[in-house]
Amino acid sequence: MQRSDMLARLEARKDPWDFVIVGGGATGVGIAVDAASRGYDALLLEQHDFGKGTSSRSTKLVHGGVRYLEQGNIALVMEALKERGLLRQNAPHLVGNLAFVVPNYDWWEAPFYGLGLKVYNALAGKYGFGTSEILSRDETLERLPTIKTEGLRGGVVYYDGQFDDARLLVNLAQTAVEQGAVLLNYAEVIGITKAEDGFVDGVVARDQESGREWTIGAKVVINATGPFSDNVRRMAEPEAPKLIAPSQGIHLVFNQSFLPTDAAIMVPHTSDGRVMFAIPWHGHTLVGTTDTAIETPTLEPRPFDQEIAFILETAGQYLHKAPTRDDVLSVFVGIRPLVKSGDSKLTAALSRDHTIHIDASGVLTTTGGKWTTYRNMAEHTVDQAADLARLAERPSVTRTLNIHGFHPNADRFGTLRFYGADAPAIQDLMRATPALAAPLDAALPYTGAEVVWAVRHEMARTVEDVLARRTRALFLNARAAEAMAPAVARLMGAELGWDAARVSREVDDFVSLAKGYQVSR
Ligand SMILES: Cc1cc2nc3c(=O)[nH]c(=O)nc-3n(C[C@H](O)[C@H](O)[C@H](O)COP(=O)(O)OP(=O)(O)OC[C@H]3O[C@@H](n4cnc5c(N)ncnc54)[C@H](O)[C@@H]3O)c2cc1C
Repeated sequence: MQRSDMLARLEARKDPWDFVIVGGGATGVGIAVDAASRGYDALLLEQHDFGKGTSSRSTKLVHGGVRYLEQGNIALVMEALKERGLLRQNAPHLVGNLAFVVPNYDWWEAPFYGLGLKVYNALAGKYGFGTSEILSRDETLERLPTIKTEGLRGGVVYYDGQFDDARLLVNLAQTAVEQGAVLLNYAEVIGITKAEDGFVDGVVARDQESGREWTIGAKVVINATGPFSDNVRRMAEPEAPKLIAPSQGIHLVFNQSFLPTDAAIMVPHTSDGRVMFAIPWHGHTLVGTTDTAIETPTLEPRPFDQEIAFILETAGQYLHKAPTRDDVLSVFVGIRPLVKSGDSKLTAALSRDHTIHIDASGVLTTTGGKWTTYRNMAEHTVDQAADLARLAERPSVTRTLNIHGFHPNADRFGTLRFYGADAPAIQDLMRATPALAAPLDAALPYTGAEVVWAVRHEMARTVEDVLARRTRALFLNARAAEAMAPAVARLMGAELGWDAARVSREVDDFVSLAKGYQVSR
């Protein structure tokens, strides 16, 4: 997956594409995989890096959504549980099974959650991840040694999926390219073109690296820009009523001592009536999330102080040692692309199901949903888009399509297991140049070989791409990521032919970005 190849293929193309997909998050990249694997010609344009938006900022759960079960949304839960099973089948190197324990402090909780989670498990049918069980107090403590013991009666354990969102996105982008799609990062759509009949027939896009602009023909323009969907719709119809009610959610990351186990904590009802998770992730503890309505989505949303305080307070109610601001290694924020329903101002009450909307101009917007259901959302979207373009019907093949990196036993690759089938090639880089095998910072396992790999094979263009999404350094420990930046910039500079000024600008840019992931002490 080389950006120069992608550029050459874009510029060589004279005919309109079947689909131009705007947005390189889970939704857009999923559509590119689905469309290309059916044999349609697809071009995807992402204004920044793949996964820069919400798709690298999730809770990292591949789940049916226990909360939707409580809301009685059985169809949504069943669909997501099936997708959870398909995703583990197609990307076992990135999707794992995780035990979630609901600690019980009231007498009614064990029977109530015990029964609910049995139903959750039953709904998964043949896609089940493990049987739920009621735990005694001792069994709960065995699984969650740092849980608050005062008043603890026991717990309920159930099983769900966990993944690395940005790594899955990169592997999906590689899959799309292998299936014949053209994907470009740092290519912003700045306008939509229309034919004489007023129907959309393409986009105007700008290469953020060279400043070059292209007018690109498309039979259908698919708007997969998540929280930014209304901006793109309004390029074609400036008066289009808004579809999206953006809401942000934050996560705090701590070291492993807060959850030194391989089980997660699920709190079904926080004081604001939401679900909260504390999850072991890449040797750290991830806690979240919040749900705060916001006016305007941005690419680098910031946490509100009250959101940080709320997560610290809730974690402190359940953990023996309450975390403080000093313990936060990273804070990251994602924006939910929730679809407006009526006049509701309560975003937590809006649907998580996906919406496909076709404007009078013909722009097809697909949004909502969740990471877990990206494949199903992509299948529906391509069905609709092919119909809109009057293309010959071709069935989706993604249910059984292995995702790039597929490897059934990737654990054998240790810290490189998330690369799956690519891990041996990274090990080869280390063997050829032993200096590339050393961790770039003592706090994290990432090595120079992964930087070189990300540039050569994963279209990483900036220090941020490597430290935020090809590796997860920024999301795990923002200060350690900052310390790694100069070495990463030097390695990337050697690969990409950067001069000294570019190397130093990259470091400065990253350091200032990383400040936004740190919590002032
Ligand atoms: C806090 C939080 C936690 C979540 N946790 C989970 C979870 O645990 N499990 C789960 O299944 N789901 C989860 N979700 C939901 C899931 O993350 C989202 O549904 C999904 O990532 C949305 O992907 P997307 O591609 O629609 O949007 P995005 O990932 O935001 O992608 C949109 C892309 O469009 C690009 N773009 C915008 N304008 C333009 C333009 N003009 N030209 C080119 N590109 C453009 C943006 O740069 C961006 O990269 C969570 C969401 C949030 C907010």
